[in-house]
Amino acid sequence: MESPPTRVLLLEDDEDDKFLTSEALHDVRRTRYEITWVTTVERAIAEIRTGEHDVALLDYRVGANTGLDVLSAVKDCPVPCILLTGQRDHETDVAAMEAGAADYMVKDDLSSDAIERSIRYAVERANSLRELRESELRFRVVVESATDGIILTDDRGKLLTWNESALRLFGLTTAHAPETGLLELVSSGQGDRDLLELLDAAQGDLTGRRADGSSFPVSLSLSNWEGVHGRLWSAIIRDVTTQKSMEDRLVRQAFHDPLTGLANRALFANRVAHAIVRLQRRPGAVGVLFLDLDDFKRINDSMGHAAGDDLLTAVSERLANCVRNNDTVARLGGDEFAVLVEDAEDPKTAMVVAGRIMRAMQPSFHLQNQEVEVSCSVGVAVTINDTTRGPDLLRDADVAMYAAKARGKNCVEVFEDRMHTAIMDRVSLESDLRRAVERGEIVAHYQPILNLHSGDIVGFEALARWEHPERGLLGPASFIDVAEANGMIVAIGKVILDSACAQLREWRSQFGSQNLTVSVNLSNRQIEDDAIVDTIQDAIVGSGIPPDALVLEITESLMLNRAGPSADRLKKIAETGVRIAIDDFGTGYSSLSYLQDLPLSVLKVDRAFISRIDEAKGRALVEAILAMSKSLGLSTIAEGVESSDQLAALNTFGCSYGQGYLFAKPLAAPEVERILNRQARLATEGIDAEHAREADPDRLFQSK
Ligand code: C2E
Ligand code: CA
Ligand code: CA
Repeated sequence: MESPPTRVLLLEDDEDDKFLTSEALHDVRRTRYEITWVTTVERAIAEIRTGEHDVALLDYRVGANTGLDVLSAVKDCPVPCILLTGQRDHETDVAAMEAGAADYMVKDDLSSDAIERSIRYAVERANSLRELRESELRFRVVVESATDGIILTDDRGKLLTWNESALRLFGLTTAHAPETGLLELVSSGQGDRDLLELLDAAQGDLTGRRADGSSFPVSLSLSNWEGVHGRLWSAIIRDVTTQKSMEDRLVRQAFHDPLTGLANRALFANRVAHAIVRLQRRPGAVGVLFLDLDDFKRINDSMGHAAGDDLLTAVSERLANCVRNNDTVARLGGDEFAVLVEDAEDPKTAMVVAGRIMRAMQPSFHLQNQEVEVSCSVGVAVTINDTTRGPDLLRDADVAMYAAKARGKNCVEVFEDRMHTAIMDRVSLESDLRRAVERGEIVAHYQPILNLHSGDIVGFEALARWEHPERGLLGPASFIDVAEANGMIVAIGKVILDSACAQLREWRSQFGSQNLTVSVNLSNRQIEDDAIVDTIQDAIVGSGIPPDALVLEITESLMLNRAGPSADRLKKIAETGVRIAIDDFGTGYSSLSYLQDLPLSVLKVDRAFISRIDEAKGRALVEAILAMSKSLGLSTIAEGVESSDQLAALNTFGCSYGQGYLFAKPLAAPEVERILNRQARLATEGIDAEHAREADPDRLFQSK
């Protein structure tokens, strides 16, 4: 295919010269030329401006003007111009090149070859220049449209090129930019002296500085290459303010408790570890306080979760006020908090903080228009040793906290090694107890309850015992607390309930005493259990005893929450005909009005009152309790009757029933059977009971 002709503009005012030039062009074999001939400088300029020519051949002398005039007028046009002169001279040569001529030829030397080559070079050069310009423009557009700041600098950081975003980012003006260095705009805060140092620091946190002096976080991507006039650097700079604050927020979320804003367990553990490491450099003490609210569950259950949350928030504020700024307060979960006491010179500092916390917790909390008293148990563990492991310190504080709970709550315990043994004992006790339930080692013993006037046994209180294969018979003191804490009391309670009901059924038929009752202790945990009503029903139906033969003993602490689900359950239980006794009466703190609100039948006066019945004050108290119980229509049982004096006093006050070592300790079922046998024998033989008692070596009923 034939290539298109090269379009040539020829400025020549001499017709002969025009002819010669045209001839030379026509003789070129490989290229066709399409020639436009003009004779004036003005025409030439106008033609070039149309952009319809590939090249312009300009005569040097055109009337009074020169081709140079054309050149300077069309400087901005991409059409290459070749100057033609009459003779070669150096000055013209230089002037032509300076004016931007693509080439310069002497007319006498205008051979076809020479002119063809000159035109070809000029056009090709013009084309590549055009392409270069275009590609530069393309890059310029990309750079300008970037939202990142883009800057090109020399090796010293002086700004050579920049985009709009860069100006905006740093608040620079086009006028100021060239006087600015990259090192003034971006720094790592390490006093970078050259771009290489900045390049090193570019991974870390960099600060951008605006012209007005304000600063902002930036990310920087810096690279360099060898340019014609030395090393060049390009910098892509991004304002990362939003990204940073988002990151900060994520970090906060990952390491803080959302409710209270305190550190969470992960952050706390980290801080503890660091604090211990710092002991290497600066000797001192690191203390961890482990804190658990007492009876938080009760507040949460009775007042609702919102109140519980309010309480946790209020507690966290009080805690924060008890420590110095660089100490950490954390919420580990639920109602568990921890405090890290760092940089303490004295190991006792942790105890000082613990004391401060106990005092801070004293004022009541205002929750939902109610004043609520809340206490806490605190465990303290301190180390001065930098080889201590953080998790161990935390665990020790936790163990000490449990010791504080065991000591009766609302107190501080410092960790001691022996606590570990106690905890380990407890752990093995738990697993032993679980096995004990499965193997039937938990049995009921029965303590007789007597009619204090007649001395007759009217019933029994079933009390849990553990027939331990190695340690012998264990009382509830060795296992009930653990069982309450881990929930096993529910299973144990069911064992006692079932065996007590079955046992009563047997005794009733065996001894023909249809009035015997059995009392079973119910722990709060059991009443919180949804299945309790069914469990009781099953025990009654299963054993076949009438419901009113069963008395369930509950404690006052349960009454604190009269409107809760437990109260509903008690009503349901009472509706089955089972009777309910209030146990250990007088030892709780609750108001007395519950006595009439709840479906109670029996009141058991706590042993503490009976044991002081010989003092005037104690006497008065028992008298008052008995009077109240009577007026509410409740049967009264005196607990822990140990002496005949106590019995005499109770008789004077008209207390109907009693139980205690004076009459009998809790007994295994076979022993109870012996006593019941004797009682039955005496009754059928018609022997005077009073007389028989004195003669009886078992002395169930001791009296003068
Ligand atoms: P509690 O319900 O107040 O039971 C009476 C406790 O007083 C029994 O202790 C009994 O042996 C003791 N006691 C009776 N008479 C006297 C006396 O004259 N003097 C003295 N010093 N003590 C006397 P025990 O059997 O060690 O039971 C202790 C507590 O364990 C019970 O107190 C009860 O709260 C709890 N418990 C026992 N068995 C069960 C059970 O099956 N379930 C639940 N939830 N708790 C139980
Ligand atoms: Ca009891
Ligand atoms: Ca009791």
